[in-house]
Amino acid sequence: MRTVEIDQDSGFCFGVVNAIKNAEKELAANNELYCLGDIVHNSQEVARLQKKGLKTINHGELKRMHDKKVLLRAHGEPPSTYEIAGQNRIQIVDATCPVVLQLQKKIREKYLSADPENSQIVIFGKIGHAEVNGLVGQTEGTAIVIEKKEDIRQLDFNKNIYLFSQTTMSVDDFKEIEKEIRSCVNHPVIFNSFDTICRQVANRIPHIRKFASQHDLVLFVAGEKSSNGKVLLNECKKANPNTFLISNPEDIHPEWLQSIESVGICGATSTPKWLMEEVADYVLSVIPIC
Ligand code: SF4
Repeated sequence: MRTVEIDQDSGFCFGVVNAIKNAEKELAANNELYCLGDIVHNSQEVARLQKKGLKTINHGELKRMHDKKVLLRAHGEPPSTYEIAGQNRIQIVDATCPVVLQLQKKIREKYLSADPENSQIVIFGKIGHAEVNGLVGQTEGTAIVIEKKEDIRQLDFNKNIYLFSQTTMSVDDFKEIEKEIRSCVNHPVIFNSFDTICRQVANRIPHIRKFASQHDLVLFVAGEKSSNGKVLLNECKKANPNTFLISNPEDIHPEWLQSIESVGICGATSTPKWLMEEVADYVLSVIPIC
């Protein structure tokens, strides 16, 4: 018996659902809406919304734009974006995820209350990622971003350290970095760490590991830019090395499906359910259930 199963826990998190709902509501009323950066790290979903009138712009275009309506996606933005919007009479549709907003606020408060001469705000995250840019913006660009354990060499262990995390990083990696910094700080320096990882991703890990281990082949559907996609994909690969990252059904190599009894389809918080269903339909057309 061959089976094809879509993981019911995969797909959009509430932050992404909220951003897309906001976009669809605006497009239904106005037929025109700009989005600063891709609304979600999934080109198929971006293309679906583009057909409805959503136009993706970058920060350079925002600076040159006036009197338009612009949606800010779930990743959030630094204060400078709101300043530009104010100067250019741009109406903001703010779809920043509430979890990210809280984190921005926390970092801002710490930045304002910490001794500037003797403190470092450190963010564990991906350099250049939109969410991280929004977080660094809360510190007037002074926060230090570290991507991996080795990067802590940049820190001054004779100054206070306040460690935060981008919401979609791995909890295990965060803990390792936290432990490493703790072992390096020189007394009486303050080291505070704040686990600000969103559980929408972290809580999926035990489930996705189990799901991956139950199938002969796992097709992980996600855009390559998806940060949480990388974390969840790695977990799938650890549980089942026969896991492949695909962005759409065309990426499937027919030989992957040979001699396979069960196929599991899962994805990131930016993966639309309809896309996982398209992948399932394709797989079923190639290996009909018998
Ligand atoms: S992963 Fe968490 S923080 Fe990020 S958009 Fe989704 S709900 Fe918000």
